[in-house]
Amino acid sequence: MHPDNISAELKAVSAPTPRSISVMGSTGSIGTNTIDLIERNPDLFRVEALTANKNVTLLAKQAVALKAKLAVVADPGCFAALKDALAGTGIEAAAGPEGLLEAAERPSDLVMAAIVGFAGLAPTLAAIRRGATLLLANKEALVCAGELMMAAVQQSKARILPVDSEHNAIFQVFDFERKSGIEHITLTASGGPFRLFSKEQMEHVTREEALAHPNWVMGEKISVDSASMMNKGLELIEAAYLFGLPEKQIKVLIHPQSIIHSMVSYVDGSVLAQLGSPDMRTPIAYTLAWPERIKTPVAPLDLARIGQLTFEEPDPERFPALDLARVALKTHKTVVFNAANEIAVEAFLSEKINFASIARFVAGAMDRFSGLEKASLEEIIALDEEVRCWCNRSLKN
Ligand code: NDP
Repeated sequence: MHPDNISAELKAVSAPTPRSISVMGSTGSIGTNTIDLIERNPDLFRVEALTANKNVTLLAKQAVALKAKLAVVADPGCFAALKDALAGTGIEAAAGPEGLLEAAERPSDLVMAAIVGFAGLAPTLAAIRRGATLLLANKEALVCAGELMMAAVQQSKARILPVDSEHNAIFQVFDFERKSGIEHITLTASGGPFRLFSKEQMEHVTREEALAHPNWVMGEKISVDSASMMNKGLELIEAAYLFGLPEKQIKVLIHPQSIIHSMVSYVDGSVLAQLGSPDMRTPIAYTLAWPERIKTPVAPLDLARIGQLTFEEPDPERFPALDLARVALKTHKTVVFNAANEIAVEAFLSEKINFASIARFVAGAMDRFSGLEKASLEEIIALDEEVRCWCNRSLKN
């Protein structure tokens, strides 16, 4: 995000409405919350394209309800079913990686990047390269290709508005024009379902326990990432790229109530934070409407009822993910960190490894592979594949 770019936009008259939007990953947790807000504001948005992986039924239903022009399934095996479901509607159907690229490249004002994992990288980058305003939920894309994506933003004059609640909070209180006044930022973390578990207990937790986040309802992968604190590690890397800060200026604080979504500390001792009920529709609405605000059905924040906000330091012994992320950032191993984590999460969800092995697995991959600097998309994809192959072989042994 370029400061000039932001201030110019803030001074500008709001974009003409309705704004066109493509929602990548419209059938997921972020995607369905985005669709909910679009449906509540029919005069403000016009849907260009929607994408899913395999969930044809929901994708087709959304596309018809919102009169989308294009619907895409990433899995080519689902193309025939999508065509059948859209027959007679006039909505175009597409599939596969080319279909996802087409959805991202269509000339919409906004692109919501809400595909989960590395699979979202190519379409997210394509949207940036054509100069779209990107509402970024797909943190794995930025983690793997931060340098490339931020350089593309400068070149195409695209804009990234962060959807992740922590980054969205920081974006709202970060003084882009006087960055030298910023001492550090603090990402808050709920601590997840195992915040009070011992290392020994974490060896034996179940899939269902890991998926039961205390404060947020989210997709499976990010729920496991939150439980292991890999999510906070990914967010630390995401923040470094989004706000142009070294890792030592990014702190993490456990805040179990998830009310303060993150903070910026200034050199004069001021700390600015954004607060709200833990509901992703607030940060999503912020990005959809920026620089304006729109109403949401989110429960108003009732601090008297909540009573207490508490804080703890993260424990690196029980949650090694944060230190691994700091190393990944400093050694340019973020592709390795992300790919190994994606494979480890899948392995945990299919009960091939236990929960505590996720961090050990990521550490093993980071020992095995070198870093990658100033890489092209092709080089990033090649390393991602190499790491995944190595991880899958290790799982078989
Ligand atoms: P979900 O698993 O709920 O949804 C993922 C979406 O991506 C679905 O539409 C899914 O389609 C689609 N998808 C899955 N795999 C592929 C693939 N290989 N190619 C193309 N599309 C695919 O995830 P979330 O909504 O929870 O998370 C999305 C992103 O947002 C993640 O990067 C996450 O870290 C980030 N995020 C999520 C938050 C949350 O509250 N959920 C909060 C902050 C960030 P289908 O339904 O067909 O499988």
